[in-house]
Amino acid sequence: MDGDAGKNPASAVQLGEGARAFLTGGAKHLLIGGKWVAAHSGETFAAVNPATEEVIGHAASGAKADIDDAVMAARKAFENPNWAGISPHQRAGYLLKLSRLIAENAEELAQLETLNNGTPLAMTRGQMLASAQTFEYYAGWATKIYGETNPSDAAFFNYTLREPLGVCGLIVPWNGPISSASWKLAPALAAGNTCILKPAEQTPLSTIRLGELILEAGFPPGVVNIVTGFGETAGAAISEHPDIDKVAFTGSTAVGKMITRAAAVNLKRVSLELGGKSPNVIFADADIDKAVAASVGGFCFLSGQICVAGTRIFIQEKIYDEVAARIAAYTAHFTVGDPFNPATTMGPVVSAEQFERVTSYFDVAKADGAHVAVGAGTLGGKGYFVKPTLYTGVTNGMRIAQEEVFGPVAAAIPFKDENDAVLQGNDTVYGLAAAVWTKDVGRAHRVARALKAGTVWVNTYLKVDPISGFGGYKQSGYGRELGPHSMDAYTQTKTVYVDVTG
Ligand code: NAP
Ligand code: MG
Repeated sequence: MDGDAGKNPASAVQLGEGARAFLTGGAKHLLIGGKWVAAHSGETFAAVNPATEEVIGHAASGAKADIDDAVMAARKAFENPNWAGISPHQRAGYLLKLSRLIAENAEELAQLETLNNGTPLAMTRGQMLASAQTFEYYAGWATKIYGETNPSDAAFFNYTLREPLGVCGLIVPWNGPISSASWKLAPALAAGNTCILKPAEQTPLSTIRLGELILEAGFPPGVVNIVTGFGETAGAAISEHPDIDKVAFTGSTAVGKMITRAAAVNLKRVSLELGGKSPNVIFADADIDKAVAASVGGFCFLSGQICVAGTRIFIQEKIYDEVAARIAAYTAHFTVGDPFNPATTMGPVVSAEQFERVTSYFDVAKADGAHVAVGAGTLGGKGYFVKPTLYTGVTNGMRIAQEEVFGPVAAAIPFKDENDAVLQGNDTVYGLAAAVWTKDVGRAHRVARALKAGTVWVNTYLKVDPISGFGGYKQSGYGRELGPHSMDAYTQTKTVYVDVTG
């Protein structure tokens, strides 16, 4: 079947007043110490609309000297009584104010995000509201960071204090810039840290607008600094910096390893949310209609550029042909095109580089002998549009089943029974997420336990809520974001012994 999910006609981008005003007026600056400043080098780089390949703005190219300034500002802010000395209620107040500002400006932020990374507008709108909710959730935590009193000898009063780590470097990718930033900023700030945020080179714009909202929320200067720039320069300067206490990173496993090595210079704390090749296991007794729709969403959402994408679809042998055909048919009805058009269900991939990477896997799959059930092509013309793609006849050892494509490309793989599903599902270096589809409650729980992944979905896919931890097993990283877990990741415990013998 041909994945002729036809490109819908480009609608003229209808940007609102706010987004248009933001995009006029020259290159964007870095936010350091509460002020917008040019990079020391004076250099800037372009932000591109992946749906049209047009340049939509420029941002300052921050590098080592700018990171040095940002670290100094963040250190000063960390020690300043106007941040270090305020009550948890006041910290909560800042977070709540920012949450409200994100919600009030959600449309503008969503438009900037869609323009810069190609995610359909309906989805970026949802992401902005979810980000506002993340700040609201962690505002609640600011007043709930408890220590303990410990049952020590009678001669001592022994208790613990939970304190912030200090200056945190936050490095995020382009697939959900504001979501990723909020997962890190919100708990870091709730705990009383100060931050340097580096967005990905592809998507600087929405984060700069977030910086404006951070200033409007009234955070003291230097509490949040934003340095746009490149991974090799600004990113590397963060991970190597001797006066940064923690680095939180979301991105590829390869860069995660580089960051971990660089962070050893001062043994800064590291938390990593990395890649995935998540198994999505469909048993013969599942609700097939529901499984088919969610499985396609699972690998096509955000054009497949999502770390939890369900790119290995395991289908029980006896239903393999039928279900693979149904997934292919459902995939073919995706509407790929202009992310501002409300009819669009999938936008472009983010950049020329990503377009090359994703399409190169069409040759890899072909060479491995996989069969194209749908897709494996591009839409042609302007914009980085890739057809959603499903391969059948795949074995779990093939590169298409082992390597993260980070595009709308999935492999359908047959399995015999529960044991085989678990063995094959776990046969990967990654362990970020997994799903199981079955009506057998016992099996659902057994398989959920047996799959080595940080999140397991049962009869659903993609659900994430700030109330629960998120993160990886194996080479998908370590540390947990969201939920109470993030408060551990941004605090350290001090034990105090007091001699009470007089
Ligand atoms: P990437 O190259 O690892 O980039 C991610 C971030 O790291 C960007 O800000 C990047 O800056 C920066 N960076 C690059 N090289 C660096 C270095 N040497 N030192 C410090 N920072 C550096 O990732 P990507 O290919 O753009 O993004 C896709 C990857 O992210 C996928 O593997 C995906 O699975 C993963 N991801 C994981 C999660 C999760 O929660 N687990 C979520 C989303 C994405 P530049 O952009 O300026 O190079
Ligand atoms: Mg890069």
